[in-house]
Amino acid sequence: MALMTGEQYIESIRKLNMQVYMFGKKIDNPVDDPILRPSLNSVRMTYDLAQKPEYQDLMTAMSPYTGERVNRFTHIHQSTEDLVKKVKMQRLLGQQTAACFQRCVGMDAFNAVFSTTYETDQKYGTHYHENFIKFATYVQENDLTVDGAMTDPKGDRSKAPHEQADPDLFLRIVERRPDGIVVRGAKMHQTGALNSHEIIIMPTQSMKAEDKDYAVSFAVPMDTDGIYMIIGRQSCDTRKLEGSEMDVGNSEFGGVEALVVFDDVFVPNERIFMCGEYDFAGMLVERFAGYHRQSYGGCKVGVGDVLIGAAALAADYNGAAKASHIKDKLIEMTHLNETLYCCGIACSAEGHPTESGNYIIDLLLANVCKQNVTRFPYEIVRLAEDIAGGLVVTAPSEADLRDPKLGPVIDKYLRGVASVSTENRLRILRLIENLALGTAAVGYRTESLHGAGSPQAQRIMIARQGNLEHKKELAKAIAHIKE
Ligand code: SF4
Ligand code: FE
Repeated sequence: MALMTGEQYIESIRKLNMQVYMFGKKIDNPVDDPILRPSLNSVRMTYDLAQKPEYQDLMTAMSPYTGERVNRFTHIHQSTEDLVKKVKMQRLLGQQTAACFQRCVGMDAFNAVFSTTYETDQKYGTHYHENFIKFATYVQENDLTVDGAMTDPKGDRSKAPHEQADPDLFLRIVERRPDGIVVRGAKMHQTGALNSHEIIIMPTQSMKAEDKDYAVSFAVPMDTDGIYMIIGRQSCDTRKLEGSEMDVGNSEFGGVEALVVFDDVFVPNERIFMCGEYDFAGMLVERFAGYHRQSYGGCKVGVGDVLIGAAALAADYNGAAKASHIKDKLIEMTHLNETLYCCGIACSAEGHPTESGNYIIDLLLANVCKQNVTRFPYEIVRLAEDIAGGLVVTAPSEADLRDPKLGPVIDKYLRGVASVSTENRLRILRLIENLALGTAAVGYRTESLHGAGSPQAQRIMIARQGNLEHKKELAKAIAHIKE
């Protein structure tokens, strides 16, 4: 079974015995929970689209490990063409879900762990690469969704992991056994953890010798003993409990984040990819972050396409579409969105092979991509709200619209152009609200800022990769300076 259907995916998640908490309660059936289900539907789309012949080229790839066609989300990139297709696939999924579809973190962890384990083995004679290939082959053969977990709680940011008042604020090895290790700690903001079969853990920053117990990478099933999740709240999340599909704005799809706790979890030797090789922690972080910064040049662009479309419809529905400033705002939104896409494509096209043979993006361009993503979606949202007007935050509920007495009043006074129903006008405003301020704002706005690393993390990489000395030499040559 190299490719699962969407339905098979849902049923496979249902079989996992995951420990999930929300609003102070254990959720026994997360798959059918009305708050959580839309996020599962988004991941399902990565399976559904892979079944369609018209998307086969984008959504799947030939695996050199299984010899079969696998979902691209489980693929080890073999060329710059693969890197470009990855971004195009993510744009497509953003367009189809208008949400975070979550499966990318595993794909990005896959490719970062693949090359880092290879180079670690070269230096230390370890067998992490072999462990990883075995794991990756298992994931590809079973078409699993894998979460990629990097962000530790970090406590006091001025202190190294071993200096923290509480040693568990970075995930660490607490016991070494002949057959494996025991780990303790937590990973924050874990996108899609509860919709994943497996989770890959990576260190959150470069480490020194004193922090070697924190330099750890491994993969375990999400329902392993000792793992539990506490779901993060999203703005307007409980609207999903009110029974109004219209008021939610995007009732079918969503994203979800969780605090994932590792309460003395056992990891068998064959699932370990780093265990104390602290000098490779930085490489793993840099590569994972680089791939995920590339990813944002695809997924956020796809969601941006939906938002631009929604803003244009809002203008159509209230008769403002022909105003020159509205046209100009839509041009500006498109310009910003396509600039992000240019960055995603450019860092992919300029990729190169690593020592292990898989392909990595151009790190400078990937960081520039993500730096732009920390800004442009905010401006795109501002322009969408500008075009939509204040009704985006003052419109009455669906219950009022359906009420025999109030409904006709709402229909009369909230109508824009006479030929468009008030309901359709309100639906598009609710979608804009969802993307700008509601549950999807997590994925489109704040995640654009902090996901794949906060802005300063990219600036550090841009400083490192920018090669200022080379630029100085260029200037000296032109100015005929001899020192
Ligand atoms: Fe994928 Fe984007 Fe969500 Fe990251 S934020 S998992 S790249 S959809
Ligand atoms: Fe993300």
